[in-house]
Amino acid sequence: MRGALGGPRVLLRRLREVMAEPVSAQERLDKIVVLIAANMVAEVCSVYVLRIDNTLELYATEGLKREAVHQTVMSRDEGLVGLVASEAKPINLSDAQNHPAFSFRPETGEEIYHAFLGVPILRAGNTLGVLVVQNTARRTYTEEEEEALQTTAMVVAEMIASGELSSLARPGAEPAIRHTQQLTGAILSDGIALGHVVLHEPRVVITNVIADDVPKELKRLESAIATLRADLDRLVEHGDGIEGGEHRDVLEAYRMFGYDQGWLHKMREAVMTGLTAEAGVERVQSDTRARMLRASDPYLRDRLHDLDDLANRLMRVVMGQDHAPSRDQLPENAILVARSMGPAALLDYDRKRLRGLVLEEGGPNSHVSIVARALGIPAVGEIPNAAGLVEQGDAIIVDGTAGHVHLRPPPDIESAYVERVKLRARRQAQYHALRDRPCITRDGHKIDLMINAGLVIDLPHIEETGASGIGLFRTELQFMVSPSLPRTGEQLSLYRAVLDAAGKRPVTFRTLDIGGDKVLPYLHKVEEENPALGWRAIRLGLDRPGLLRSQIRAMLRAAGGRVLRVMFPMIAMVEEFDKARELVEMELTHLRRHGYALPERVEVGTMVEVPSLLFQLDELLERVDFLSVGSNDLMQFLYAADRGNSRVAGRFDAISAPVLRALRDIAVRGRKHGKPVALCGEMASQPIGALALAIIGYRAMSLSPSAVGPVKALLLDLDVRKGEDAILPLLDKPVGSVSIRGHLEKFATAEGLQL
Ligand code: PEP
Ligand code: MG
Repeated sequence: MRGALGGPRVLLRRLREVMAEPVSAQERLDKIVVLIAANMVAEVCSVYVLRIDNTLELYATEGLKREAVHQTVMSRDEGLVGLVASEAKPINLSDAQNHPAFSFRPETGEEIYHAFLGVPILRAGNTLGVLVVQNTARRTYTEEEEEALQTTAMVVAEMIASGELSSLARPGAEPAIRHTQQLTGAILSDGIALGHVVLHEPRVVITNVIADDVPKELKRLESAIATLRADLDRLVEHGDGIEGGEHRDVLEAYRMFGYDQGWLHKMREAVMTGLTAEAGVERVQSDTRARMLRASDPYLRDRLHDLDDLANRLMRVVMGQDHAPSRDQLPENAILVARSMGPAALLDYDRKRLRGLVLEEGGPNSHVSIVARALGIPAVGEIPNAAGLVEQGDAIIVDGTAGHVHLRPPPDIESAYVERVKLRARRQAQYHALRDRPCITRDGHKIDLMINAGLVIDLPHIEETGASGIGLFRTELQFMVSPSLPRTGEQLSLYRAVLDAAGKRPVTFRTLDIGGDKVLPYLHKVEEENPALGWRAIRLGLDRPGLLRSQIRAMLRAAGGRVLRVMFPMIAMVEEFDKARELVEMELTHLRRHGYALPERVEVGTMVEVPSLLFQLDELLERVDFLSVGSNDLMQFLYAADRGNSRVAGRFDAISAPVLRALRDIAVRGRKHGKPVALCGEMASQPIGALALAIIGYRAMSLSPSAVGPVKALLLDLDVRKGEDAILPLLDKPVGSVSIRGHLEKFATAEGLQL
């Protein structure tokens, strides 16, 4: 068996010369296949390029019939070439014709070839095409040859990615790299934005793939690895994160990989074949990304993500770029694309230029989504490989109303969206005109519309929306976006700012709701089997009262001379409420003793979000000053369906008899006890949800600021009495016999209410 002539380094040197020649794209490709075939002593070398119609087209060949070039087109799942493309893995066979996936194309004349080696042409883990060598003899290509062909494929990947080959394509059959794509994900924040991609973690653009001097490149790689390790050691030891507070366990995973011999060995090998240090890192990273995209085990996928991040860091060290580019130099109309992002990182960007956000991860209840909503930035999440599919500066549309993302949109889609943006602006102007009108239904019911808030950036929303107060101030957000535990003084000044901004309007402060999915990066994370059902919120607060007491103290001091409303999250038993209320009394006594100005009045209430409270409502209502239903968690626990899991998100309907019966019961009992009951979950932010709530007796709701306009417009047109007549009897019919949602929709249409 013969090996490669002159080895991969000679091949790469020759390829570099070909890349520099002033020839056409086709001539360059033709020369490349000849060079590869000669170097690897193969009779055939062919390049197949993946097209936007998901087919693979033969772009160049040495050995197969020349007439087949640009004529042979296969579907992505056809034959061995298709298998290489879809699995993004090399296939190395001594007798290809015996392989079940082998498919014979007479026009290429390939029936006489037995040995087959195909490798994917990858960039950022995406398959751009396939590079193949073939021999008539039944030979097995060595591991080194496989490695060399993969290295060579990087050069072809650069040619495809640069757009050089697009000139060879027929319209509608261009290489897939730059094509229009419509992707669907999860809605994180409502709204529509048109703009250009800014990668949150920009990929380092490699311009130099082929090494001049291999020992020098090896040295560059080694020294970058040493720097990376030293950085990670320091970060883990100091326990603090960089770039928005990474978790200690993530840093520890990074450190483990940073010392992983297998990973390092692969990069060294790639450089030894003749790549520059940065191209060596990219080669291995591209394989990792390809595996990551195909991994179905979430644990494995997370680890591959970590490894991908680490490769990014290493790449920056190799290229001498210590940090990601500055966040305050955004272009106009920037749409951020990231794998994942913390809330603090999002707040670092210049709000005036930021138009939208696209994430690979991140459910609607993730912290970054909460901040995106507070900032009014349309956002879509759960778009697999989003960051790998785009290039810096690509045109992009984020449709946070439908959960769509359009990459490199065609002109007709773009102009349709421009129209929709104009329409939305007109509608916003109409909502704005309602701002100062009290929210009173057609038949005279006053409904309090308040907003949900949690950050200083939310405060202008009170004035903008004309809301009657803050019905839920999520105090944990300050803790979540802060790099370290906020001191009592910092809490105090935030609460004071909130009360100042609200003026005479009431503010309901919810005490810390952490634990579960709300993790603070600087606090030790307790590993739990079921965090949503675990040691969280008030449970943590009562067991370790130091933090809760200092928070209550900050609230009491901030409200000196004013009314303070405090609310506890995740109360499951009346006894917990009693204990929590006792803490408020203790802090009041403490402040009184030290001569602080006390609030004019303190009202203490609780969220209703654990179903056990539904069966102790009378006892609870005797104790509290008010209740606020957290429909997000209440739904999650009533239906036993994780609120952050998109697989079960659409399975259960909040606008259905079981939920509405429970909610009605809370409102009815609240009235009986003379205690105000509001609802502050997302249900109230949807017009159909608000309609249902008004009909079953809710007279106070707390909404996302952007929902105030549409909900108010609907309620102003509503005749509650008619709604009660149409809907309430249906709630008492057997469950499943009628669709409450369907009847509400019909009612809205008949009454001319805009859902
Ligand atoms: C809820 O559970 O409905 C709620 C308002 O609280 P959060 O979304 O912060 O858990
Ligand atoms: Mg909740």
